[in-house]
Amino acid sequence: MTELLFLGTGAADYDWNHYGEPGVLGSTATLLDGRILFDCGATAVKSILRYGVSPAEITDIVLTHSHDDHYHPHQVTVLAGQSRKQPLHFWGSPQACALAESPNCLCHPLTAGDRFTIGKFQFTVLPASHVLDNPQEEAFHYLVESPAGNLLYELDGAWMTSRERQLIGGTHIDLAIWDATMSAPGDWRIFDHCDISMIRTMRSALTQSGNLDSSSRLVFNHRGRTLWPENEAEQDAIAAREQAIIARDGMRISL
Ligand SMILES: [Zn+2]
Ligand SMILES: [Zn+2]
Repeated sequence: MTELLFLGTGAADYDWNHYGEPGVLGSTATLLDGRILFDCGATAVKSILRYGVSPAEITDIVLTHSHDDHYHPHQVTVLAGQSRKQPLHFWGSPQACALAESPNCLCHPLTAGDRFTIGKFQFTVLPASHVLDNPQEEAFHYLVESPAGNLLYELDGAWMTSRERQLIGGTHIDLAIWDATMSAPGDWRIFDHCDISMIRTMRSALTQSGNLDSSSRLVFNHRGRTLWPENEAEQDAIAAREQAIIARDGMRISL
């Protein structure tokens, strides 16, 4: 069984000085198969310890982009500095790699369209519609194919670009983890993030093209603190209407 552990599920509007207190979600990071870490932001090391993962078991960090809720170079240095048999592999944009300098860190610069393999997982690097401070730097999504199933890791980002759509091709997606920063339409952040109505539209198109079907699971992640109802039952009701589930810190699901 291939497991995903949601280490953190919050957007950038949390005060992580208060991480661990009720209602303070961790910075978005997800652990695949106990060893591949999607993103390594402000609360990464604390959340790894909080949910019982040994930092030395993490073999690879796969970075989506350099916003500090996803990438905190010091957190990478801490993970790389653990006593480990092999160096820690770091996969990300050339700009992110340049900041991940550690003697125990082996960097793999990526551009959209690249493919690489970690164990049984075949990654395709997808371009995300999400702007960084350095306009030269690309933000990424990932398509991860494996014998256990195919994962679309779709955050951060707004509308799927046609280039991303092209790279996904005809691949069937078993599990999609989506940027759901906003629960309702009408917010100005739509050029970098999704609201639920945008995901509904993209889901419909990807269903028509056969990428998604009734067996595909959809997970809303990266919830904005001020952009979702505070009450968890209200959050779950929104997700249920969309036939999706809400990612919560510490939640585990199988691929
Ligand atoms: Zn973010
Ligand atoms: Zn971002």
